[in-house]
Amino acid sequence: MRVDRDVLRANYEEIVRRSGDRRVVASVKADGYGHGVLDVSRALADAGCDSLWTGHIGDALAIRAAGIDTEVVLFGGYTPDQIPALVAAGLVPTVVDLTGAAAAASCGAAVYVKVDAGLGRLGVPVDVAGTVIREMAGLDGITIAGIYTHLPFSDRAGREWAVSKGAVFTEMLDGLARDGVRPGFTQMWGTCGLLADLPDATNAVCVGHALYGMSPFTDPTLTDAELQPVLTELGASLIHVADHPHDVRAGGYLTRGVSRVGVIPFGVTDGMRRVDASFEPHALVRGQRVPIVGTSLEHTVLDLAAVPDAAVGDRVVLVGRDGGQHITLTEWATSIGCSELDAVLAVAGRVQRRLAGA
Ligand SMILES: *Cc1c(COP(=O)(O)O)cnc(C)c1O
Repeated sequence: MRVDRDVLRANYEEIVRRSGDRRVVASVKADGYGHGVLDVSRALADAGCDSLWTGHIGDALAIRAAGIDTEVVLFGGYTPDQIPALVAAGLVPTVVDLTGAAAAASCGAAVYVKVDAGLGRLGVPVDVAGTVIREMAGLDGITIAGIYTHLPFSDRAGREWAVSKGAVFTEMLDGLARDGVRPGFTQMWGTCGLLADLPDATNAVCVGHALYGMSPFTDPTLTDAELQPVLTELGASLIHVADHPHDVRAGGYLTRGVSRVGVIPFGVTDGMRRVDASFEPHALVRGQRVPIVGTSLEHTVLDLAAVPDAAVGDRVVLVGRDGGQHITLTEWATSIGCSELDAVLAVAGRVQRRLAGA
């Protein structure tokens, strides 16, 4: 897979532009959404981002160890008793309850407080958040650096839900401000709220998907943003080309009457998915579109009828350009039956990554 840092920087700059006066912090969770957390973190820091957020302690420590000089914030991923050690390692924890806040206070830490405004996952429940955060703010030794929530959505009904939950969160923040609790950082929108241009009274956004050029929306009309995928190519080499008589087997790869096949060393283990032929996944070989006819753990088989001169060693493009043809990340993800993010995450770790751009 090829990861293009120039595209990442361009996406970051577009997000900064759309964010107006709001501070932009970057979500690099899930190994930088599958693109490689250190490469992504370095490129974002070089582009001017000063705060990187992940829920993985190992990734957060790796960012610190790599000498990347930004704030590194943990979304979560630990129990309260681990907080002093995380703070000592130079990380900024999120707390979601009074036990966590007390642990942070005991070591004089600055923390972010996460509020659950309706997602039903991590955070102080919004209906008690005012009371709980006031109590947290009263603890000796604690600094509340910020308060945030997360309200992702994918369609128009979700958009309405996010707007109404966001209003409740904003009201809670207003109540805290009246009582003198005014943290320097407040945030509720990620990619969804930013790209759908939802009302925002906070002073920051925490963006993941959009940085990597991936859409969180099932309804594409929710945004007019034109962000490019940072994964600019995914491919492999042909390791075998063979002719098979049509009756060689009744089942398996040759059910569609395919006689000339090519094999690439890219299987389910590497990020391919077992899909029904009705999804019609394709690859590019010598500038031609060819059907993918089957996959197994470590191999995928192509129908090479359209490219009779294809030979062992030829480049096979699953995502990217070849000749005048282009398979987009969106097409690839759709044709293997998952989201763009899940398609990239499936590749992560196993496949060799090449960096492009500066
Ligand atoms: C993942 C995450 C984000 C970023 O969300 P995107 O939709 O990828 O932009 C923001 N805030 C929290 C708490 C998250 O977990």
